[in-house]
Amino acid sequence: MAKLDWIGEEIQELRGSGRYIPIRSLQSSQGAWVKIDGRRVLNLCSNNYLGYANHPEVRKAAIEAINEFGVGAGAVRSIAGTSAVHDRLERKVSSFKHMEGCLSFQGGLLANSGTLPVLVGREDIVFSEELNHASIIDGVRLSSAKRVVYRHLDMASLREQLKEHRSEGRRALIVTDGVFSMDGDIAPLPEIAELGSEFDAMVYVDDAHGEGVLGDHGRGIVDHFHLAGKVDVEMGTFSKAIGSMGGFVAGPSALIDLLKQRSRPFLFSSALNPGDAAAVLKSIELMEKDDGPIRKLWDNAAALKGGLQAAGFDTGSSKTPITPVMTEDEKKTVELSRVLYEDEGILASPIVFPTVPRGTARIRLMPSAVHSAEDIAHAVDAFRRAGSKLGLA
Ligand SMILES: *Cc1c(COP(=O)(O)O)cnc(C)c1O
Repeated sequence: MAKLDWIGEEIQELRGSGRYIPIRSLQSSQGAWVKIDGRRVLNLCSNNYLGYANHPEVRKAAIEAINEFGVGAGAVRSIAGTSAVHDRLERKVSSFKHMEGCLSFQGGLLANSGTLPVLVGREDIVFSEELNHASIIDGVRLSSAKRVVYRHLDMASLREQLKEHRSEGRRALIVTDGVFSMDGDIAPLPEIAELGSEFDAMVYVDDAHGEGVLGDHGRGIVDHFHLAGKVDVEMGTFSKAIGSMGGFVAGPSALIDLLKQRSRPFLFSSALNPGDAAAVLKSIELMEKDDGPIRKLWDNAAALKGGLQAAGFDTGSSKTPITPVMTEDEKKTVELSRVLYEDEGILASPIVFPTVPRGTARIRLMPSAVHSAEDIAHAVDAFRRAGSKLGLA
């Protein structure tokens, strides 16, 4: 069919420019080591920071919820899809986050794209950080609000944009990733909150990579900076450190009330499954009980970064366990990932445009609490060998 020829051509173009990413299937559960193509490989690119994706107590909680409530939620939340597990989960997240209320979503992406259009509309204005996650960008687009982008981590730039454009919107919203998912650096949230007060702009933070990583017992970035009450909306995901599936928005009760009336993923897409909700609830209980895994995560991250730097790699400006290995050139990055996988048995995904800006390609590593010190040392050795093979380090 000639009318579909463009699809093959587009794929050819992706291959030609080194941006075609092979998709690998795991034949095992998540963990430090996973099985792919029948081979055991060291997994350095899951967001399963604390190991909860395959934790025995979390598995058990999910199975018990399935036994009690079944596998499916059956309907959208507003019709018959809200169950006692959703209520329990939302109460737990509110108290964990020290926020008045919480609404769970079927994913973090849906939490962003389902909440931002409720907060702002056509007459409003959004001040959006340059490196914000795609789901924030989508949410802002769906809102039809005017969008002004400020430079990465640059508070002078945010102030300048607020000064120049604040008056163009009825309501204003500043939105930022808390921890930047591709770089691992941290938004200067105290300054952002102050600018929000000064210019009468709501402040919204996406804490996908802060939960389970930053703050007391992994409460996230707002707790990390002691900003309770100063950030209006905290959004997060249950799919990273929490290890399961889903997302949430925490904020004032009135906002949660309004989201239940207006948010499209709440009204038009079936609810989070009971097993997932129960797994999330258990993970948060584990985090509250013991911060040992969080400390282990940070120790592993320090060892990984230190080892890679000593081997001559540039690990960027990360302030969190996210460890980018900056390789810049897209083809070289895909090649390094291939050599690491084929010759060294290391799963380390290349990140290229459009996930990151052109010319900033990288391998992004995610150590976790379930990696051992030997696993980390093994990874550093493998990078050293692969890097010298390709003339990179
Ligand atoms: C992963 C991620 C999301 C999306 O979360 P999902 O639960 O995977 O849909 C949103 N924002 C940021 C910053 C993320 O890293």
